[in-house]
Amino acid sequence: MLTPGELLHFRKNLLAWFVQFQRHLPWRRTKDPYRVWISEIMLQQTRVAAAIPYYERFLERFPDVKTLAEAPDEDVLRLWSGLGYYSRARNLQKAAREIAFKHSGIFPPVEKEALDLPGIGKYTAAAILSIAYGKKLAVVDGNVARVIARLNAVRGDLHAANRWQQLQESADAMLAPEAPGDWNQAMMELGATLCTPRAPQCLICPVNKFCQARKLGLAKTIPEKRKERSTVELTLASLVLVDRQGHTLLLAPPRISSKSAHTSDVAALVSRLWHFPTLAVQKNATRELRQYFEQMIIPGRKLAAKLTPLEKVRHAVTYRSITLLPFRAMVRKLPRVTTAKSLPLSDFSSVPISSLTRKVARMALFKSN
Ligand code: SF4
Repeated sequence: MLTPGELLHFRKNLLAWFVQFQRHLPWRRTKDPYRVWISEIMLQQTRVAAAIPYYERFLERFPDVKTLAEAPDEDVLRLWSGLGYYSRARNLQKAAREIAFKHSGIFPPVEKEALDLPGIGKYTAAAILSIAYGKKLAVVDGNVARVIARLNAVRGDLHAANRWQQLQESADAMLAPEAPGDWNQAMMELGATLCTPRAPQCLICPVNKFCQARKLGLAKTIPEKRKERSTVELTLASLVLVDRQGHTLLLAPPRISSKSAHTSDVAALVSRLWHFPTLAVQKNATRELRQYFEQMIIPGRKLAAKLTPLEKVRHAVTYRSITLLPFRAMVRKLPRVTTAKSLPLSDFSSVPISSLTRKVARMALFKSN
């Protein structure tokens, strides 16, 4: 632990470094709570460089809470398409509707009210309220946890019981009360740019003289690696039906309430968006796909068309390692299915889809016979 004098020195060094070396990112040009909120949600599971174009497009289309609250759900998902973790977009819009309804369109400046909004946890509330409103709330995300663990040479799994709470307490104690927003961003920036997981750059670190891990030669071994959940291997197959006009059939998003393992595997793959008919397969993908079509898509109707295999796609979703086997079938006419839409294979811009569905569509479009 730092003495009060050291803590003052530490804060001064880190804030001065942040002013001079921070990356110039679009959300750092504003303190507008709406914009800060959108950026924090986008950055939750997305790299900074990948988030920037989405952030700019999103704000162009939804410049304020009201526009977002009033937009059709599918418009929001469409603009999110490719960013992944679509529950973020769904929660963002639910929260916008609550903010419009209960908080007169202004992101609530009170932590308890912010925490009541969908998709807002302790970290996100602290980040938004400190940056936008100057509230004295310290953030602890993966980057900050690593920095604090190294500064104090904390051993063991940072996610173990009570450990995260201790890190939060350390972060609360270190927070610079006169500039909580800048402070939080500086701690996150240090973790993202210098105090990185595998190659901490201690020589040029602005707070290296206060760091226990550096003194003990432990910078690269703290934090300890987490035990990972074992991976489940799955094989799924998708059916891309294409008629003579180049139209295909996309199914509506899988129902959230379904508890079947099959539906949850497919939902994980297609991110609960519009998708090609897809199922988990065991041994014979083409036979199982035909059976699925004949039993679930158009009961009683045979799928006579040849199934042409497209390139296999590997995809990882949380603990699932998925191999997707897509097949294209050329048909005279697409079947009528109540939970499906017929769309040109070359243009899915009217519905939200995952980047994986877009990739399969492109393969089906350019596959020669
Ligand atoms: Fe991280 Fe090294 Fe700085 Fe310590 S000295 S905070 S390990 S970069």
